[in-house]
Amino acid sequence: MYDYDLLVVGSANADLVIGVERRPGAGETVLGSDLAVHPGGKGANQAVAAARLGARTALLARVGDDAHGRLLLDSQRAAGVDTVGVLVGGAPTGVALITVDPSGDNSIVVSPGANGRLTPEDVRAAASLFQASRVVSAQLEIPLETVVEVVRGLADGSRFVLNPSPPRPLPAEVLAACDPLIVNEHEAKVILGDACVSEEPADWARLLLAKGPQSVVVTLGAEGALVASSEGVARVPSVKVTAVDTTGAGDAFTAALAWQLGTGAGLAEAAAHAARVGAAAVTKEGAQVSFPTADEVAAL
Ligand code: ADP
Repeated sequence: MYDYDLLVVGSANADLVIGVERRPGAGETVLGSDLAVHPGGKGANQAVAAARLGARTALLARVGDDAHGRLLLDSQRAAGVDTVGVLVGGAPTGVALITVDPSGDNSIVVSPGANGRLTPEDVRAAASLFQASRVVSAQLEIPLETVVEVVRGLADGSRFVLNPSPPRPLPAEVLAACDPLIVNEHEAKVILGDACVSEEPADWARLLLAKGPQSVVVTLGAEGALVASSEGVARVPSVKVTAVDTTGAGDAFTAALAWQLGTGAGLAEAAAHAARVGAAAVTKEGAQVSFPTADEVAAL
C-alpha cells in the first residue's frame, strides 16, 4: 500500500575535493591535485544507499539551478531514487570544500546553500510523498524547523528515523518521534550535553532513551553498534573487514536500518543487517560509490 519503502528528507551537496601535501594556514596558498567533484550530503547519500540495496526510495531535498544540482539529480536517478521531491532553485547547490593531506586528515568548509532553503512549507507541499512512505529518515544538514515539520507531517503508521548530524540539542517533539534516534559517539555526547555523565556507550544509550525516543542506536565504528529500547540494551556485532575509507559508513548504516525496519524486521535484526552494509561501505574509497548492492552485502 506504500509507494516508497523510504523517504529521505535532507541535504544534497557537491563535495569538491583537492589533495594537498600540507593543508594551508591563515593567509597561505598551497598547490594541490586536480579537483574531484563527488555527489554527497547526508540526505543524498542515504537515498542512494537505500536504493542501491533495492529499497523503493524517494528524496525530498533542494538543490540549485546549476551544474552541481544537475550532478546530484543525475546520481540520484542513476541509483534508482525517485527525484520527484527534489526542488530546484532558490540558492546555489550546497558545497563542501575539502582539502585532504597524505595522512588522510582533512579540512572542510560547508556552504549549505540550497539545503538551508528547504523550508517547512516545502515539507507541507510534499504531503503526498509522506502519505506514500512507510519510513521517513532525516539528518540535520537542513534547518531544524524543517525537521520539526517532517515530524508533524508523518503519515499515521509510518516510522521516523533520525541521524542528528551535525548534532545539536533537539526539541522534545522531535526526540519523541524518533524510532530510532541513530547516533555515533560524538553525536551522543552533544545531544546528551550535561546529562552525559559516563564514558560507557551503553549508558549513553540509556540516557538518550530517557530523553524521549522510542528507541536508540549508538554506532561504534569497527566495534559495531548498540540498540536500546524499552526491552533493554543489546550489542550488535561488527563485521570484520579491512577498512579503506569510512566516509559515508554512517549514512549507509542509517539507510539500511531504516529500510529493514520498514520490511518488518525488529530493531536488533535491522541493526545487524545495517552493520553488514556499513562494513561493506568502508571496504571501498568514497561515499556514494562505496555503497553496496544487496548481492555485495550477501557476499560479505
Ligand atoms: P559514523 O560514520 O556516523 O561515525 P560509524 O563510523 O559508527 O558511523 O559507522 C557506522 C556503522 O558502520 C558502524 O556501526 C559499523 O556497523 C559499520 N562500520 C563502520 N566502520 C567500520 C569498520 N572499520 N569495520 C566494520 N564495520 C564498520
